[in-house]
Amino acid sequence: MELIKQLIQRNSQSPPTEAIRQLAKAAESTIHKVLLLDQEIKGLRAANEKQKRKRATPRSFIATGGALTGAEGQQLAQEAIQAMEPVGVPKKRAPPRCSNCHQVGHIRTSCPSRPR
Ligand SMILES: [Zn+2]
Repeated sequence: MELIKQLIQRNSQSPPTEAIRQLAKAAESTIHKVLLLDQEIKGLRAANEKQKRKRATPRSFIATGGALTGAEGQQLAQEAIQAMEPVGVPKKRAPPRCSNCHQVGHIRTSCPSRPR
């Protein structure tokens, strides 16, 4: 209703036929939208029915062999997350070993006996 009032107000200078014409246009596009939505709803309902029928078929394999308890699932998820953690950044690094003099405690770039 607000839209119609606005339309009429906006077109107060123009002849009323213009307002009516615009109203008719607006109504037409609204009806068009409704029809589109109606089609969409029908499509969704059909899809939903299909899904329901799919769900109705028994999935015994979930109930029997393959069931996971919540704790087992969490455990698996934790392991998966840990496996995904970057390998390049271990929490405890081994002490550095120099590839020049092979002493532990410094690296080649800071080696005191490195030839310059
Ligand atoms: Zn060294």
